[in-house]
Amino acid sequence: MKAVCVYCGSSSGILPLYAQAARQLAAELVSGNMSLVYGGGNVGLMGIIADEVLRLGGEVTGVIPQALMDKEVGHRGLTGLHIVKNMHERKALMAELSDGFIAMPGGMGTLEELFEVLTWSQLGFHEKPTGLLNVNGFYQGLLNFLNHTTEQGFLKPAHLDLLIADDQPQALLKKMQSYQPVHIKKWLDRPDL
Ligand code: AMP
Repeated sequence: MKAVCVYCGSSSGILPLYAQAARQLAAELVSGNMSLVYGGGNVGLMGIIADEVLRLGGEVTGVIPQALMDKEVGHRGLTGLHIVKNMHERKALMAELSDGFIAMPGGMGTLEELFEVLTWSQLGFHEKPTGLLNVNGFYQGLLNFLNHTTEQGFLKPAHLDLLIADDQPQALLKKMQSYQPVHIKKWLDRPDL
């Protein structure tokens, strides 16, 4: 992966460990020569991870709709900033510019972005790995719910496997790097399985 898209909160959460995890992920990206693609804002975990990648000498590309430039405080110091027309363009360009996706803790926006790339992956529209950085068990409830969804017959185990989870940035990136979209290819050939 050369460019990794990180979806994360436009807030920083109540515990300092969320910001700490954002800085750790930034350091792993830079030491692995990977650039950051993100929503282009300068608030919450979004601003923290972008600032840290830049501080460490890495590259950051932001993608933000004009209408959010004030609300999310469009970051002026990035390597590149794309100002787009709307959220659809934002998400499509972020996905296009990236070789993999990571969701850190966040709110509705983060969840929406995560599930959009996962559903695109499920349908075979891309074959890029999607990771969940489960900082301090933040996403345990979601992972349990997804298991429940599979047990209840609404989510195929092969599709559940598309979400790669770990609580450590380095381990998560390693798992993502060895991701093989075999399951999904099998399912696209034989959707009945
Ligand atoms: P949040 O996780 O709610 O703090 O939002 C994180 C980022 O997701 C922000 O940059 C939001 O603008 C963005 N986002 C992407 N899609 C949506 C959406 N459909 N609704 C709200 N926010 C979104």
